[in-house]
Amino acid sequence: MSYVLGIDLGGQSCKGAIVSDAGEIIARREHPTDNVNGEKILQSIMKVINDLAADAKDKGIEVAAVGIGSPGPLDPHQGVIVATPNLKFERNYPLREKLVGLTGLSVVLENDANVAAYGEAWIGGGRGKKVVVALTLGTGIGGGVIIGDKIFNGAYGLGAELGHIMVEPDGRACNAGHQGCFEAHANAKAIIDWGQELVGPEIENPKQVQERAEAGHAGAILVWNRVGIYLGRALGALIDIFNPDVIVISGKIAKAWKLFEPKMMEEIALRAFSDLAAQAEIRPAVLGEDAGIIGAARLALNAQL
Ligand SMILES: [Zn+2]
Repeated sequence: MSYVLGIDLGGQSCKGAIVSDAGEIIARREHPTDNVNGEKILQSIMKVINDLAADAKDKGIEVAAVGIGSPGPLDPHQGVIVATPNLKFERNYPLREKLVGLTGLSVVLENDANVAAYGEAWIGGGRGKKVVVALTLGTGIGGGVIIGDKIFNGAYGLGAELGHIMVEPDGRACNAGHQGCFEAHANAKAIIDWGQELVGPEIENPKQVQERAEAGHAGAILVWNRVGIYLGRALGALIDIFNPDVIVISGKIAKAWKLFEPKMMEEIALRAFSDLAAQAEIRPAVLGEDAGIIGAARLALNAQL
C-alpha cells in the first residue's frame, strides 16, 4: 500500500491528510491560511505538510508525493498560481517549485474545483462512472469534468469553468463581470437576494430560505423554483456537451435538493436531448468537505506511478 499527502488550500484554512491508495484518510491536519502574501501562504501549507510528515513518521509510513488543490486560475502544467482573487499570492507564483524545494517530494498542483470533482469521481458519487461532471454550489459555483479517470481542464489547464455557463442573457453579473452566468443565478448571494425580495428583509442566508420553503412559504418556494430552473439550464448544456453518466452536486445549497429538484428536472427535459438526459444520473455528492483532500491525494498517487 502506498501513501501520499492531499492538501486542500483555501482562503481561510489549509487542510491536509495522509491518504492511502485505497482513498482512506490516515491522519488529518489543518492550519489557518496566513493570507498575506505568497511566502506566508507557503508557510501555512508547510505547517500542514510538516505536521503530516511527523504523523507519517510516528506511524512508520513513507509518503512519496503531495497533491494540492488551490483556488485558481492556475497553471497545473507549470505548477504556477496565475492569479487568484481568494488568495494573496503574487501573480505567477511558482508554488509547485517552492514546495518541491522545501519537501523534496513530487508535487502536483490543480484547481480546487477540479480536484474536488476528481475526488468525487474516484471514491465518491461518481465512482466507477465514465464521464463525471461535478458541481459545488456555495458562495461561488465550482465544477469539474472527469473523463475516463482524467481531469478535463483544457489546452492550458484553465478550462471547465462550469459556473460561468450563460443561463440568462440579461441576467445578474458574476464576480468576473460577465452577465448571466450560472454562478450568479444559483449561488448563495442569488438565493439571499431573491429571498429578501420574495420572503422578506430578514433573510440573511440560504438556509433560512430553505426553512421557509419547507414550511410552505410561497415566496420562498418560488426562490427555489428559480434556482432549479437555472440549474436545469446549466445541466442541460453540460449533458448535451459531455453525455455524462453521472452529475454529482455538492455544497451547502445542495441541502435544499428536494426544493429545487422538480424544476431542475423539468428544465433539463426542455433543454437537453432526452436520450442523453436519461443517461445522466443526477445525484448528491458523498464526500462532502473531504472531496478536495481525496482528489488531491489521487493526483499525487498518479504522479508517483
Ligand atoms: Zn461569470
